[in-house]
Amino acid sequence: MTLNIGVIGTGVIGQNHIRRLGHVVSGTRVTAVSDVDTGRAQAVADKLSDIPTVHATGQELINDPRVDAVVVTSWGPTHEEYVLAGIAAGKQVFCEKPLATTRQACERILDAEIAAGRRLVSVGFMRRYDTQYREMKDVMGRGDIGAPLMMHAAHRNPSVPDHYTSDMIINDTVVHEIDIARWMFDDEIAAITVLTPRRSSKAREGFNDPLLVLLEMSGGVVVDVEAAVTIAYGYDVRGEIVCESGTVELSESPGPIVKRAGQYTGRVPSDWGERFADAFDIEFQAWADAVGAGTTTGPSSWDGYAATVACDAGLEALRTERRVPIVMRDRPDLYA
Ligand code: NAP
Repeated sequence: MTLNIGVIGTGVIGQNHIRRLGHVVSGTRVTAVSDVDTGRAQAVADKLSDIPTVHATGQELINDPRVDAVVVTSWGPTHEEYVLAGIAAGKQVFCEKPLATTRQACERILDAEIAAGRRLVSVGFMRRYDTQYREMKDVMGRGDIGAPLMMHAAHRNPSVPDHYTSDMIINDTVVHEIDIARWMFDDEIAAITVLTPRRSSKAREGFNDPLLVLLEMSGGVVVDVEAAVTIAYGYDVRGEIVCESGTVELSESPGPIVKRAGQYTGRVPSDWGERFADAFDIEFQAWADAVGAGTTTGPSSWDGYAATVACDAGLEALRTERRVPIVMRDRPDLYA
């Protein structure tokens, strides 16, 4: 059976996922699209061989009986409305991160899903599907390098657009390390601290780049995250976990290392699309297979809620220059 997907938001990642759902993932086809800019949605639809219906609104798309499941790739502040509408319609929803931009909005989604009595939402934290992160978790789980003590992480972007703010370094960049830390250690974050190192000369006045973020996990592991978003040389995601008797780290380069004339070189990806292309493919195949089988998989609304709460605390830590404890509501049974 082919799963008919409606995509809300036809910007950069929306177009990326439309291509993926049409040409990479098996068992899916995009039958409907919408965007706040209907002209853009139409232009995107017109380029596809199997032209989808263009809806004037996301709500209309969700109510389309020819849409079996919904992918939300619009601007973050619009996610709550579409995810809640998807739940109300009883349809599976894949929502790009963030699940929603405030703690309260995430809680409304949790409450709606709990009232529906089953998981209907999956959040796009695609790093959980990256082969290297998965192998890292497997190595650590085997236990032969001892218990984890610390993780050093770095998230470096070559550049960001002019509208990118210091808050977005937490909400849009470090949010991925926040999710990875929770997933990697099967643990919640107890407190967050944000340090502001010397400002890069590439960062405009008032823009705090880079940031150094400390995540204290409830079980005692400490994760330091360097976030540097004007680093120029490429998109570089680093990670090393220090355990009691060994370490495990992500590879330096996704491709081969070439040694020649006394030097060695490897490729640095240009952006997140290149670095995590395979992870997105695997993530969507897993989601489509699960939805086709009448269930869902992947990061849940609880994971989306936890990430947003941690980001809120991170923003407070950035503003106050203080360590901020993270307080969440009790985890509902639906997300056990
Ligand atoms: P983008 O290029 O700005 O695309 C967002 C699209 O949604 C735009 O076409 C925007 O139109 C449209 N939109 C805004 N309000 C809408 C509404 N009310 N209804 C329907 N469409 C609406 O942004 P993007 O880079 O694709 O990011 C989209 C989402 O994906 C964000 O939540 C972002 O955080 C997430 N994302 C995740 C990853 C990842 O690594 N997992 C990477 C990139 C992005 P206008 O431009 O006219 O406002």
